[in-house]
Amino acid sequence: LLQELVSAQEASSDHRSALATFREMHTYTLQQRDIATERRALLLNARMALDRARQSAELERLRADRLQQRNTILTHEANADALTGLPNRRALEQALASLLADPSAHFSCAIADLDHFKRINDSWSHLVGDEVLRRIGALLHAGLRPGDVVARFGGEEFVILLPGTSLVEATAVTERVRQAIEAAPWSDLQPGLTVTISIGIAQAKQADGFDTLLARADTQLYAAKSLGRNRVCATPPSDERRRRSAPPKQP
Ligand code: GH3
Ligand code: MG
Ligand code: MG
Repeated sequence: LLQELVSAQEASSDHRSALATFREMHTYTLQQRDIATERRALLLNARMALDRARQSAELERLRADRLQQRNTILTHEANADALTGLPNRRALEQALASLLADPSAHFSCAIADLDHFKRINDSWSHLVGDEVLRRIGALLHAGLRPGDVVARFGGEEFVILLPGTSLVEATAVTERVRQAIEAAPWSDLQPGLTVTISIGIAQAKQADGFDTLLARADTQLYAAKSLGRNRVCATPPSDERRRRSAPPKQP
């Protein structure tokens, strides 16, 4: 519009007004340029702020992922035995507590103890002893079903929980594991090395706690040791008041 006015003023030879209008137009053009530059700068700032926010959100996500992974590792380490990788005593206590807390749970519990393990350490070294424990852990794990729990109870003792398993079935399962351990190729580790294990089993009773159940399994383990080791002993079923998973029959 101002440009038109300048042209009209020039056409009517009003050069003074044309110059004034032209100056006004020039000032206005400069102002418009400043506004556009300012807008571009604001837009650029906003984009940079958005990029920074995206980067810090990504960093935050990566940090949260790392924390989650670390937590998973720590939880695993807190519940696993460092030598064998099996659940440790703490994890066993939790698994047993949840079975004992369920009045309908029907399960058996076994304690397995290596025979004359001290002799293995003394004859072949602690390193060989440690490797025997690792292999025993793997053999116990491999010989059981996915729902069973096998934990390193301490030293050369392992506890096995067999959910939904009667004493007779538990005896058969652990006898298979005992045989697998006896038949394992131990001489690969050290020529002349043999390894056997003794196992005591008890079936859980309604009023059992951690100590009473393990004490009964331990009594059977003691019996297995006394009878010459390398065997499975179980409390006679008649001595056990069994937990029943099925509801009582209707009259
Ligand atoms: P028994 O047949 O009566 O059970 O005899 P044992 O020799 O197996 O039992 P004892 O309690 O006399 O010895 C257990 C040995 O287990 C002693 C101990 O040094 C060893 N032991 C315990 N924990 C570990 C371990 O983590 N690594 C090694 N190498 N040895 C261990
Ligand atoms: Mg022992
Ligand atoms: Mg032993």
